[in-house]
Amino acid sequence: MKRIDEMNLKNKKVIIRVDFNVPLDKNLKIVDDNRIKESLTTIKYCLDNNCKIILLSHLGKVKKESDKVTKSLKPVATRLSELLNQEVKFIPATSGRLVSDAVNNMQDKDIILLENTRFEDLDGKKESGNDPELAKFWASLGEVFINDAFGTCHRAHASNVGISKYIKESCLGFLVLKELDNLLPIIKEPERPFVVILGGAKIVDKIGTIKNLVNIADYILIGGAMAYTFLKAKGIETGKSLIDEESLAFCKEMLDKTNKIILPIDHVKSLDMESDEYLIGDNINSEEIGLDIGPKTIELFKSYLEKAKTCFWNGPMGYYEKAIYQKGTKALCKIISNLSITSVVGGGDTASCVINMGYKDKFTHVSTGGGASLELLEGKELPGISI
Ligand code: AMP
Repeated sequence: MKRIDEMNLKNKKVIIRVDFNVPLDKNLKIVDDNRIKESLTTIKYCLDNNCKIILLSHLGKVKKESDKVTKSLKPVATRLSELLNQEVKFIPATSGRLVSDAVNNMQDKDIILLENTRFEDLDGKKESGNDPELAKFWASLGEVFINDAFGTCHRAHASNVGISKYIKESCLGFLVLKELDNLLPIIKEPERPFVVILGGAKIVDKIGTIKNLVNIADYILIGGAMAYTFLKAKGIETGKSLIDEESLAFCKEMLDKTNKIILPIDHVKSLDMESDEYLIGDNINSEEIGLDIGPKTIELFKSYLEKAKTCFWNGPMGYYEKAIYQKGTKALCKIISNLSITSVVGGGDTASCVINMGYKDKFTHVSTGGGASLELLEGKELPGISI
């Protein structure tokens, strides 16, 4: 697929698939606008080219009619408007007359944002199922399609892949290009030593990525609940810690295959996840739950990171939703921010932690796509990029 800077966009009507899948609180206020800010480069470039701009995005999953209340993109239009200092017209529809009339009435440099593309999923999963009629309709709205939604590039939906089949020209936007420029060298030519840090809870979603990274990385440091599944696979007592039972056999296979995997040597633990009482210790007894990496593990991980030239990090080191279990994740942010290395964060929870803890600018790159960055590091071709 072409790059946006290889296209002639002058005075064109462009459709940009952006990733405005941002977290909203109970009052429908945007909690983290990082993805909106990251989309500005492409939008401003199109404004400089005197384009008429039609924005498409999803926001969460839409499974029932009542989801329409909590998954509307209206607050995003308001925020984007503030960031651009110009009106962004919100169209409360995804298809039909309301949309085509709004598009037909656009002037140069006008921006419109359609409602959440996944509202179309209520009618036979048209967006997620890549319905050709829906893709054709969206394609009919403009002359050039720009895919700038890295977070959905691992999915073939109507608004990011289907649409490109029915429009004259398509290209990748600056956000996607930046993601590729930062993520691909990690698996192709990482400066060594290359250290991978993995955390979070589920292993099953990351098996392909772990298998690929085991061949590429020099060391894989594992924290979070994921570490307990590996420790259990080694025959170590993990008490009532969260275990991904279906991945135990895989963990054992990995531990037998390589000695690159480095596991925690102490833990922050408790008898109850939600209690404020915790202990630190080298072992976990049958009643305890491991909830964060301990101070000795932080020092151990630091010793590997200090030797590294490249690091990639996916997954928090503990149950970070509770402040007392954020120390491991925060400590790694601090350690990495003091090193002059290529440091890449793979989206999802880890990106939110790094951003909320105030370390975003200290990393070489913080990806906007959790699933997409993992699939890219698995060595897969992503449908949204190969279109
Ligand atoms: P994942 O979706 O697999 O990346 O996992 C992210 C989730 O893992 C977050 O909600 C974390 O709170 C959770 N997590 C990380 N470490 C632990 C732990 N030791 N015990 C329970 N949950 C954890």
